[in-house]
Amino acid sequence: MDLLNTLVDKGLRREPLSRAEALAVLGTSDDELLDVVAAAGKVRRHWFGRRVKLNYLVNLKSGLCPEDCSYCSQRLGSTAGILKYTWLKPDQASEAAAAGLAGGAKRVCLVASGRGPTDRDVDRVAGTIKTIKERHEGVEVCACLGLLSDGQAERLREAGADAYNHNLNTSEATYGEITTTHTYADRVDTVRKAHAAGLSACSGLIAGMGESDEDLVDVVFSLRELDPDSVPVNFLIPVEGTPLAEEWNLTPQRCLRILAMVRFVCPDIEVRIAGGREVHLRTMQPLALNLANSIFLGDYLTTEGQAGKADLDMIADAGFEVEGTDQVTLPEHRVGGCATQESAGCGSHEGGGVCGSAGETPPGQARTDLVSVRRRGAGTDLAPNA
Ligand code: SF4
Repeated sequence: MDLLNTLVDKGLRREPLSRAEALAVLGTSDDELLDVVAAAGKVRRHWFGRRVKLNYLVNLKSGLCPEDCSYCSQRLGSTAGILKYTWLKPDQASEAAAAGLAGGAKRVCLVASGRGPTDRDVDRVAGTIKTIKERHEGVEVCACLGLLSDGQAERLREAGADAYNHNLNTSEATYGEITTTHTYADRVDTVRKAHAAGLSACSGLIAGMGESDEDLVDVVFSLRELDPDSVPVNFLIPVEGTPLAEEWNLTPQRCLRILAMVRFVCPDIEVRIAGGREVHLRTMQPLALNLANSIFLGDYLTTEGQAGKADLDMIADAGFEVEGTDQVTLPEHRVGGCATQESAGCGSHEGGGVCGSAGETPPGQARTDLVSVRRRGAGTDLAPNA
């Protein structure tokens, strides 16, 4: 396909795609899908080799959020039977993180429900970051605490945070349909604050919320403008008790096309498969490693992932290797925030319509059998899944 040859050339040269090219990737047919994966896989291997970065989530504070993000089981009015608890103490969070790090993770993502942290919350998280960093040399710590006020990103950076996550989630045009208690502009502002404070910005999306192909391309192009170092791609987990519980729109093929599009638009940026991997990619997960260079190990914030051992086996069986703490994730030109304009590089708390794809795959089937609320790890007496 001429399109794919063009996209590979652009990816290797870090040249921006046009919107029409990004839409064309989403519109490919099932017969073309392996060619699409192979083409995007060339770009992935050029910038990231066969390395897979493992990240580990620690939910510091679960549920009882006053915000109304429709996709989120921790939202205001959610009747999902999730774990609910207030701030973990530094020792508890460090213990939870240790399980993921022992399983091969190099980044710990410290997440708390809520609109955004108070200054006292920032102090709390600063203490947790220090404890984790003292006990685990070389670990990367990312905080995900919601909307930041002035000065908070700087204080997190001083405490030792390496990165801050805040997702854009969906296009600006549809944001108001997903959340009413804060705006898309609020989210953009927080990503910019993190960037300005010298934190590595992590910002991504959630697919499967009823958005069109144009919405997906919009949000990915907006992310590229913000130039984060990592882009988590969530596939909506339609949790019972949330407004989007019936939105079973994704198929494994659709997920692969979305990941390929993100890879082509953000060729030299860490693309992470986030929530919904097991539920929507299912047996196609190993194929997706040809597109993304990063995944979460084990469980998610409020739902369970596959066993950490299964993640490691999958990576090895697919011919990839876990990225070590001595290896640098990003290509040399991006390290230290020196990405050039030429690269045009590209949080919510949980990832989990109309597909709009011209492909041949029928709409996704409800797979509620694959969704399990998390009952182990942080906030419980049970061992974590890492
Ligand atoms: S995504 Fe974050 S801010 Fe939105 S409802 Fe969930 S916990 Fe609250």
